[in-house]
Amino acid sequence: MPTAICPECSEEVYVDSDSEQGDSVSCDECNASLTVVGLDPIELDLSTGDDDPYGSGDDDFDADVY
Ligand SMILES: [Zn+2]
Repeated sequence: MPTAICPECSEEVYVDSDSEQGDSVSCDECNASLTVVGLDPIELDLSTGDDDPYGSGDDDFDADVY
């Protein structure tokens, strides 16, 4: 199985050999949600999912929901 380096903790992350760009994987070491951004070589980037209210940079977002 191919591996890539986790941008969060610099550990090796196993990526499915049939993964495609844009696929999501998670790091076993730090549990970060990662996105495949390159395939040759495999590169991973931290996912900035829509479900992260603090990562959007939208100051108008009401962070007091919970
Ligand atoms: Zn990691």
